[in-house]
Amino acid sequence: MGMPTFDEMYLGQPAWDVDRPQEAFVALAQAGRIDGSVLDVGCGTGENAIFLAQRGHRTLGIDLSRVAIDRARAKARARRSPAEFAVGDALDLTPLGRAFDTVIDSGLFHAFEDDERPTFVHSLRAVLPVGGRYFMLCFSHEETDEQGPRRISPLEIRATFADGWRVEELAAARFIHRRHVDGARAWLAALVRTS
Ligand code: SAH
Repeated sequence: MGMPTFDEMYLGQPAWDVDRPQEAFVALAQAGRIDGSVLDVGCGTGENAIFLAQRGHRTLGIDLSRVAIDRARAKARARRSPAEFAVGDALDLTPLGRAFDTVIDSGLFHAFEDDERPTFVHSLRAVLPVGGRYFMLCFSHEETDEQGPRRISPLEIRATFADGWRVEELAAARFIHRRHVDGARAWLAALVRTS
């Protein structure tokens, strides 16, 4: 038995799969804070990527789940969105062979095990040049709902990105999901690669 895989979870509609972009990313875009081309890591069924592509960003979404990517592509086609999608591993982004101005993460980082975090940060450097920005939305340690992913504290975020990154913002936010109208307590982190 054990934990279901993400592919298995996407056979149904998972709690995070909310059929619209996360408000935190909508607000960033509306504030003009998303720059240039965008890679959405762990994009799921693509709502955030489709939203940013619609705003004129050249956008690629990648996810380990083939089921999620198929659904994202079908949505993009139906909505005539230029967002692109590919199956890929966020822990090994080198094979993409592409650089982006911005990386967004809606609920991927909080899915990693402790030992995957440094691997992920190393992987990010393959696609995000110095000066590029990584925006991450993750569940907060202050969220009390017993269901859901791992909880993350600001200290953990700062520790993970201590070397070669500047924490431009670390703000309380909401993570919209299907089990509660107000979603969950979350952190929105903006990290700029400095070296
Ligand atoms: N960003 C989406 C999905 C969040 S759930 C949304 O906001 O709806 C986390 C997603 O990360 C799942 O779709 C899962 O399949 C994906 N994922 C988990 N580990 C991954 C990895 N190593 N590389 C790429 N995607 C991964």
